Formats: sequence, structure tokens, C-alpha cells
Amino acid sequence: MIKHITAKNFISTVNGKDEWFGLRYNFNIYRGCIHQCIYCDSRSECYQIENFEDLLVKTNAPVLARKELSHKRTKGLIGTGSMSDPYNPAEKELLIMREVLKVIQAFRFPVHILTKSDLVLRDQDIIKEIATIKAYVSFTVTTYDDELSKKIEPFAPISSRRIAAMKQLAKSGINTGILLMPTLPYITDNEENIKKIMQIAVDNGASYVIASFGVTMRDRQREYYYKKLEENFPSIKEKYIKKYGNYYSCRSENSRKLTSIYNEYTVKYNLKKRVEPYNEVVENLRLFS
Ligand code: SF4
Repeated sequence: MIKHITAKNFISTVNGKDEWFGLRYNFNIYRGCIHQCIYCDSRSECYQIENFEDLLVKTNAPVLARKELSHKRTKGLIGTGSMSDPYNPAEKELLIMREVLKVIQAFRFPVHILTKSDLVLRDQDIIKEIATIKAYVSFTVTTYDDELSKKIEPFAPISSRRIAAMKQLAKSGINTGILLMPTLPYITDNEENIKKIMQIAVDNGASYVIASFGVTMRDRQREYYYKKLEENFPSIKEKYIKKYGNYYSCRSENSRKLTSIYNEYTVKYNLKKRVEPYNEVVENLRLFS
């Protein structure tokens, strides 16, 4: 079910230094996510999203973006995609992300878009404009295997479509890369998978790979994940219970070896491990509004 809502606020400031994605600001157009990845952290109780299958749409996001950006005195990377994919399937018709990007471009802020969807290609023209300041588009790829991606990220475009989109953006000169995270213990945390994803990055124009070798788990997120493990990977749930119990941080047993493969590739092929943050103090942003 898609429900339209009027939000009060839109762009939040990230507390402290964002070690992973270099963000200073963050927004989410959608709450809930149709992609329904089995490991999604946004199901956790702390986010208070009762029905994660429903999609709440902040219809007034472009208006709020314009208002809020006109008051910002420091430019920094504006991120989106941590709580819900900005390129949810509904975005194809709704075009809200496209409108928000136009506002960001008008105010000359930099962006970092995190997505699992090749729908981002639709907005390549605006992203290219934003890239004159700075733009990153990161594609999450947790497995090279399309059949496996259908099981763990059932309604997101399959991995090969994301990779093809990354290649196309790279060709057009947009800075793009892979988020190799999470790495699911006993499912995707094997050497073959990590080597293949790193090679895919090299062959398809990625300039960076941001990786983490494990997954975090809590309350409702864990319940849902275990339910899906039972359906799709029947022997694995018991292994999780035995190894991780109620731990939040579930680090792969192979993380040391996988990290060393990751390091090897990043050095050999000059892939960065992080995007560069961006900071600029401005005086008269209102001039652009
Ligand atoms: S795309 Fe991201 S936000 Fe959406 S279900 Fe998957 S992990 Fe969650």
C-alpha cells in the first residue's frame, strides 16, 4: 500500500563524523521499502515503522528541501538511501527524487546517493550537473549471483542490473562505486563472492568499494531475517543462534580473510575505500532560492 503524507521536516544533519559515507546531511523521501531485503535494518523497533511493506511517501519533500537548503550555511554531502531506497519502484511514476535532486542542483550542494536500483539512470542528467560540485552514486551489491540476490533482496533489481547501471554512470563520468555490505554470515561471506564483486568493481568503472564483513541484527529485524532464513536457507538459522545469540554485531567468521582480499584488490586496482567528504561554508545561499 502506498500512502502519501505531509512531512514537517526533511533534511536532517548527521551527528558527528560519518565514517562510512562522508555525509553531513541526510534525507529519506520514503518510509518503508518495497525492495524488502531480508536483512534490512530499517525494520528495527527504534525506527517505529509499523508496516515495513507499506510505503509512506513524503509528497512535499521538494518544497521542504528548497526551504531547508535556503537556510544552510555549510555545504556538505547530502545523502539518501540509508533507511529506504530513494529509487523505490513507486519513484518511477512519482518523480519526487528527481524533483529533490533539481533543488539540490539549484542550491549547488553535493550528493551521495545509495541505491539498489537502476532507476537512478533516469536522473543521470541532473546528477551530472550536481557532479560539477560533487556527486557519488553507490550501488549496494551483496552477491554477484543474481539468483541469490533474488532471495535476499527479493524486490530490488538483481545484482547484474545494478552493475550495468554503475557501468553506465561511470561511462558518463559520474563518480560511482559499490557498497559491499552487509556480508551475510554463511550465505555471502565466502572468498569467491568477495573476489568476484571486487573484480566486478574493477571491470565496471567503480572508483571505490565500501565494505563491511558482517551484518547487524536487532529485535524485529532479526525476527524477520530468521523467518526468511527458515524459508530459503533452512539449515542456517541454527548456526546464527549458536554463534551470535542476541548480539547486535554479527561479524563474519571469515572477516579476516575477506578483509585481506578486499585490501589486496583496493591496492592493486587503486580503488578507494571511502568517498571524500565535502565541506564549504557559504554566505548567501538564499540568493539561489
Ligand atoms: S533497499 Fe535498503 S532500505 Fe530497502 S529494504 Fe533493502 S536494505 Fe532496506
